[in-house]
Amino acid sequence: MKGNLILFMLVFLLSSSAHPTVPKDAYGFDFNVGFIGMTSSTEDKILDAMALVKRVFTSVEFKNKVLNHRYLGRKAFQASNGLTNTQIYHKILAGAERLYPIKNYKMDLEVELYTDHKSNTVGFTRTLSKRIWMNTKFFNRFTAAKVAGNLVHEWVHKLGFSHDVKNTRRRKYSVPYAIGEITRQLATRL
Ligand SMILES: [Zn+2]
Repeated sequence: MKGNLILFMLVFLLSSSAHPTVPKDAYGFDFNVGFIGMTSSTEDKILDAMALVKRVFTSVEFKNKVLNHRYLGRKAFQASNGLTNTQIYHKILAGAERLYPIKNYKMDLEVELYTDHKSNTVGFTRTLSKRIWMNTKFFNRFTAAKVAGNLVHEWVHKLGFSHDVKNTRRRKYSVPYAIGEITRQLATRL
């Protein structure tokens, strides 16, 4: 009996390591997104982007890319707020924004478009607001996958992660940039 139990546990351990699974949190991930002053076509583009984000967040590829992200030769992110890659992965899935710190497994956001042709800013957000602003100069020509990457970048700021304002060499390894880019890449492929 004891031998059977050990054998069962061994088989279980082997099978769980051979088939990395996505935690249940990922499958329940949802959106609570308000649209500010949009047309139905711009709303549709963001809804498409959200559907892609859901597919990315529930994928094993996303889990693996976040868990194995490297910075300075270690599995880490730049400006990680002292969190490991695994902690960052679960923080994303938990969806506990600084403004809404309850783990509700949701992206709580408002999205508003603005137009600034002279700016190279794709989008921005403010610490004390649940809103993110996206520049139509880029939004209008972006694919849904690129919008997904930008949406996730801005939302990751809401989880308390930041990055250098200037385009430094290390900036792409920050949580908003890296997670946004992983999302864009996987959204393009999935
Ligand atoms: Zn940013």
